[in-house]
Order: sequence, then structure tokens, then C-alpha cells
Amino acid sequence: MKKIGIISGKGGVGKTSLVASLVSLAQKDPEINVITLDCDVDAPNLALILPPKSKEDILTHDTFTTKKARFLEEKCVNCKQCYDDHFCEFNALDWDESNNIPIINYLACEGCGACKVLCPEDAFEINPVKSGEIISYETDIGLPLIYGKTKLGSTTSGLLVSEVKQHATNLKEFNDANLILIDGPPGIGCPVIATVSGLDYIVAITEPTPSGLHDMKRAIEMVNQFNIPFGIVINKADLKSASQKQLNRYLEKAGFEILGRINFDLSIPKAMSYAEPVVDYAPESDASQAIKIIYNNLKLVLSTIN
Ligand code: SF4
Ligand code: SF4
Repeated sequence: MKKIGIISGKGGVGKTSLVASLVSLAQKDPEINVITLDCDVDAPNLALILPPKSKEDILTHDTFTTKKARFLEEKCVNCKQCYDDHFCEFNALDWDESNNIPIINYLACEGCGACKVLCPEDAFEINPVKSGEIISYETDIGLPLIYGKTKLGSTTSGLLVSEVKQHATNLKEFNDANLILIDGPPGIGCPVIATVSGLDYIVAITEPTPSGLHDMKRAIEMVNQFNIPFGIVINKADLKSASQKQLNRYLEKAGFEILGRINFDLSIPKAMSYAEPVVDYAPESDASQAIKIIYNNLKLVLSTIN
């Protein structure tokens, strides 16, 4: 089994479109038994392109990876110390003048526990709260999709990503698969780190823009900390810009593996507007041909990884 993560550093460079097309190609490949995970838990949208075959078969599992403070009014002696002495570093404690009690701003609370420790009357408790959901189903193209979705105010996206990956390992389909394709979050923070840990290979997609280049460098720096081999996909590769020369120079000098280049092609936004992988919406388009080359290159690279 090979576990592949697709990450981007920068958001909006075509990561999820690429994942959807790679998944679709893998699903049609007789050598491959694929399942897919969407670990972009703060903005999971692979499910829009890979909807369920039947809504009745969607499984939902609540997660409780976030902690929040709860105020216990019956214990409070209204001393106002929690507000006057700024117990809360996150400005989540306000003061209700009319009732003479503290108010907790649920979204701002990070569950750090300082108020519980500092209140002389023990008038706060810290509890796990629902932080998100893990959703799994068989997609309309017949393969399993598992994804996480954070709840507003959740502070633990990285933990949710780890739970999504753990949850997937309990499924029979996971153990039957020989390819796991993971749509990773953008950026280089906790959710991406939780996504890439334990993977066999990373695909980093970028575009020839200043932010695309800048964020890809940061993503590669992060991946290198894990010693995971990676390859690059360049989207909108024919964009005429100063950044294109910079990107090409950078990649040439670094000697990174280039899995492929996708030129700007209106088929991609059109496929997105119909919520379909471009390889299915417009199989003969230039973008689809480029993605097929990327898929074959990826298979070739994977065959060399133990
Ligand atoms: S410090 Fe504790 S007892 Fe005092 S007002 Fe705040 S919650 Fe109430
Ligand atoms: S748990 Fe921490 S973040 Fe939440 S209200 Fe208490 S002090 Fe503030």
C-alpha cells in the first residue's frame, strides 16, 4: 500500500481539482484499488466533486478534540477577579455588569485552563466539546471517501486530521486498498503536518505566481523535515509572468522531480462548475492529457519506492 498526500502551500492553486482527477484515473485503473481522504478539514470540498452514491449510506462520527471552559455560576462569589486580573490571555472572558458574573466567549476560548486554575472558588471547568465530524461514504464513482469537517470555533484541526487518518485505518476498504490518495490542507501548520506524517510520497502543486513560488518553498521545507520524497506539479504552467522564470530557475537548480505541467485550460473551471473531475468532464482536453501524464509519472515513481 502506498499513501500519497497532495499539498500546495498556497490555497487555490488547483489541489482539489488535481486530487479528484487522480482519484478518478486510479478508480479506472485495473492495477489500483484506491481510497481517498480529504484532510483539508477546515475547508473540505472534495466531497462536492465526489458526492455519495446514496445519501442513506453516509456515516458520520462526531469528534471531541477541542476543550472549552464552562462557567459554574453556583460557585461564583462575584469577586470579579477573573476579569480585573485578566485571567484569560485570549480575551475570552468578558464581564456581565447586570448579573455581576463573567461571560465566556465560546469562539475565543482556547480551553487553556487558566481560568479554572486561577479562580479561587473553582467556578470554571474545562470540558471536551464537539470539534467536528468524520464523514465517510461510497462515492458515485464507486470508491470510499473519508473526510473531516471542523466545527466553528474548533481549535484543533491538526488533531482532527489525525483522527480522520486513524478512522480510515479501521475501515475494511482501507486495508484492501493499494493506494491512499489524500487531499491535504494548504499552508504549513498543524493540519498539514498531521496530514504528511507517515506518508510515502508527497505531490506539491504550485503555480508560477509570486505567492505560489513563495508558499511552495515553505511547503517543501516542511516536507523535508519528514524526509518524505516528493514531486512537483505546476498548474497554469504557461502563465506568462516574471514568476514563471523564477519558478523554472528555482526548480532547475534544486533538481526536484517534476511530475508534470498543466497549462491553463478553460476545461478545468468548466469541470469545476459542474463539480466533476476534468478527466471525466473533458477527457480529451489538454488539461486531462496533462493530468494523465502526471498520473502515469506518479505510478512510475511509486513503483520505485519501497
Ligand atoms: S474569579 Fe471566580 S469567583 Fe470570582 S468572579 Fe470570577 S468566576 Fe466568580
Ligand atoms: S479556558 Fe483559557 S481561553 Fe478559555 S476562558 Fe479560560 S482562560 Fe480563557
